[in-house]
Amino acid sequence: MAEADDGDADVPMAGRRCPVCGKPTVYRMRPFCSRRCADLDLGRWLKGDYRIATDDEAGPGDDIETEDP
Ligand SMILES: [Zn+2]
Repeated sequence: MAEADDGDADVPMAGRRCPVCGKPTVYRMRPFCSRRCADLDLGRWLKGDYRIATDDEAGPGDDIETEDP
């Protein structure tokens, strides 16, 4: 069976808290409590990284500045 995962994967880790919501961490999603929180944190991280990567590009609104023709 493909779904023969070990039952320990979803067991909460004692003493560990999810950095996003503060709930007990689940082993499979450590250091988070759930897939949702993991995605949330990942999204935050990617956003920050993305910002740095596109630092050179002018954002929407910065384009208003025009040189004299
Ligand atoms: Zn959480």
